[in-house]
Amino acid sequence: MNILKFGGTSVGSAERISTLLSILKSERIDQKPVVVLSAMSGVTNALLSMAEKARNQDDYGTMLKEVEERHFHVIRTLLPAAAQNPVLTRLKIYFNELEDILQSVHNIRELSAQTKDLILSYGERCSTAMISHIAKQQFPEAVFVDGAQVIKTDSNFGQAKVNTNLTEILIRDFYDAHRDQMLFVTGFIASNDEGRITTLGRGGSDYTAAIWAAALDAAEIQIWTDVDGMLTADPRMVKKAFSLPELSYTEAMELSYFGAKVIYPPTMIPAFLKRIPIVIRNTFNVDFSGTYIRHNTEPSTLPIKGISSIDEISVLNLSGSGMVGKAGFSGRLFSLLSREQVNVVLITQSSSEHSITFAVKPSDSLKALSLINKEFELELQAKKLEYPEVENGLSVLAIVGENMKRTPGMSGKLFSALGRNGINVRAIAQGSSEYNISVIISKTDLSKAVNAVHDAFYADLKKTLHIFCLGTGNIGKTLFNQLQEQMPFLADNNDLQVKVMGISNTRKMHLNADGIELSTWEEELEREGTAASLPEFIKKMKSMNLPNCVFVDNTASQNPINHYLDVLQSSISVVTCNKIGNSSDYEQYASFKQAARTYGVDFFYETNVGAGLPIIRTLKDLMLSGDKIMRIEAILSGTISYIFNNYKAGKQFHEVVREAQEKGYTEPDPRDDLNGKDFMRKMLILARDAGYALEEKDIELENMLPASCMAAESVEDFYVELQTNAAYFQELQTRAATENKVLRYIGKLEQGKVSINLQMVDESHPFFTLSGSDNIISFTTNRYKDRPLVVKGPGAGAEVTAAGVFADIINVGKR
Ligand code: ADP
Ligand code: ASP
Ligand code: MG
Repeated sequence: MNILKFGGTSVGSAERISTLLSILKSERIDQKPVVVLSAMSGVTNALLSMAEKARNQDDYGTMLKEVEERHFHVIRTLLPAAAQNPVLTRLKIYFNELEDILQSVHNIRELSAQTKDLILSYGERCSTAMISHIAKQQFPEAVFVDGAQVIKTDSNFGQAKVNTNLTEILIRDFYDAHRDQMLFVTGFIASNDEGRITTLGRGGSDYTAAIWAAALDAAEIQIWTDVDGMLTADPRMVKKAFSLPELSYTEAMELSYFGAKVIYPPTMIPAFLKRIPIVIRNTFNVDFSGTYIRHNTEPSTLPIKGISSIDEISVLNLSGSGMVGKAGFSGRLFSLLSREQVNVVLITQSSSEHSITFAVKPSDSLKALSLINKEFELELQAKKLEYPEVENGLSVLAIVGENMKRTPGMSGKLFSALGRNGINVRAIAQGSSEYNISVIISKTDLSKAVNAVHDAFYADLKKTLHIFCLGTGNIGKTLFNQLQEQMPFLADNNDLQVKVMGISNTRKMHLNADGIELSTWEEELEREGTAASLPEFIKKMKSMNLPNCVFVDNTASQNPINHYLDVLQSSISVVTCNKIGNSSDYEQYASFKQAARTYGVDFFYETNVGAGLPIIRTLKDLMLSGDKIMRIEAILSGTISYIFNNYKAGKQFHEVVREAQEKGYTEPDPRDDLNGKDFMRKMLILARDAGYALEEKDIELENMLPASCMAAESVEDFYVELQTNAAYFQELQTRAATENKVLRYIGKLEQGKVSINLQMVDESHPFFTLSGSDNIISFTTNRYKDRPLVVKGPGAGAEVTAAGVFADIINVGKR
């Protein structure tokens, strides 16, 4: 025989109740199940709030009507008119009683725990009376059972303790007397010795089911709810949480104790003692097998079973010399708290025994504080103990699983996931069973923490990078296209998902907690965007508090740079193609690098030099692998490259410049390229990456053009000046040709010095044969001494730059 328990959502509407009945139909007819029911979803909370309203002299009538109407609506929907009357009458009586009780609370302005339990009991009584009547249509033997009569408890209203022996006898007797009927039992409620209604604690209907199962030696306890069983994390917090096929009782207990609401922790105890399996199943997905909680579970390959969390706890810390070496001190503290019904969620004690930190529910915190102040009055006055304080706004996160015991490195993984995301751990506790490690963190970090830890432990699941992008010019646009195209490949081959959470240009910004759809980002930004404000954008990005965030700067302006430090210090990685940050003061460059290191995030800027070409990365790899850089030579301007590669005999210098401009290789004023400034910035970044603390002024930059060309008023005047100086260029070119050399404008880093000069190189030089507008860089190192390592290719353009930014983003994801 099975016990089937249906939770709030599973009895929450006419449609759900129909599903419930069809589930019952598929149970074996020769072994009628016992059905345990919760109140309709939201009703227990509504009753609680009505009780408080009544005490506070607020209006509770409207709410009461709504709750009543919800029940009546179900009856009218599921029963033919002729069958409605008896059950409508039954419920009307309940609602009248309830109204009377609320009225009394209103009159005396007082709400005791006892009265509260009585009020709450109407949730289960109404739903169960109603459903048992409806069920009669299909199961004539259906009968309503007020479970309060057979579950006997102490008088700890709100969370009563069950008298197991007596309860089991009562249940068995009741069952035996009703063998030919199908019992529909109210969950959650019980009664004390005097017959007064008590409750088993919020979520307690699960427990009712287990109590019945243990008393009747049931074959299985089915907990029907609204999710696919016990998931690896709270699905409301972690979108990627997935269902666990199997758990041990201890694992289920630990997960639910630390907040996995899907099953009430005490439920596991009667089931464990009688070795009755519990299966958690989904009324919205009836065919899914759900989660089994049982003895002798199959070995699992998962490093941990799940991550659960309690989102609101208070922490008290007790410290002082009076505790050191005092046997029984913690015993005294915790027996005091348990005697006074303060439930301690978690305890940690420093190894010096100098302090004890423990966590309690916020509603218990002030009580705990005053109990301690009273109990330890003497020690406090003698200053042997510090006066404890309550700290609020904290959460507990716990990782749970039996495999943890056998697998080293679990806590390392946990803490590095937290650390990398800038989450500060206030206290740590490891259960003595080693089945769980729990940490106390700030409540504001909870969602981020759970997601980050989930990503870290279920590495074979897709990791999600959350990116926030500045700039919707050529590079930004191209990046979005590339991302959209690559998304399926990334998911399949790299287990990586990239979600664009925010986009801003200088006009508008838009952030979307669900991620921005890349096929329609322009429309979405236009339609939903607000006036752009970078500080606001960053503030919102931070307040989303997501794990694995990347701030992507696809602009060429100073403004974003001013925020890099703040972003990095918020544990958000930065990927940028904007050179300004790294090529201004050395101190600023160094501060970005330092912040990235300190906060465990990445600062990637591959596209600062040679767009998508692997230049910065190559330099870094060479250095990390212990090679010594002797010399770097480079041509890092497509325009300059094009001009000198094409300035050959028979051509005028100004013609080649004009050609370059017409092909779109130059800035609107070609001098912005030819002045070498941009080239110089790239050399400066390379030199810094090679370990030299250089500033712009340390670089020797030779003008490749006569001063009069640079001084020309307009672009056209500039061309005139180039023509006027034709002889100058011609002379250089002829001289080179006679020596079998070519002209190249080359940047060089050697012995910590950077220079950029016009040079003549012969065919032995790797730059001799350069063509088109390619960039080229050669690294001469200890290992690449005789033949330098050369990287060559297109060093500009939206496609290759965006691809470089893309590669940087993926590299953030690899960590
Ligand atoms: P019922 O009303 O059926 O008793 P509850 O609301 O008490 O259902 O519990 C189910 C809910 O528990 C789910 O909807 C889910 O949001 C929440 N939950 C929290 N943590 C977990 C978890 N680890 N696995 C499954 N559900 C969880
Ligand atoms: N109705 C009760 C509650 O909401 C008991 C339960 O649903 O398990 O807490
Ligand atoms: Mg529940």
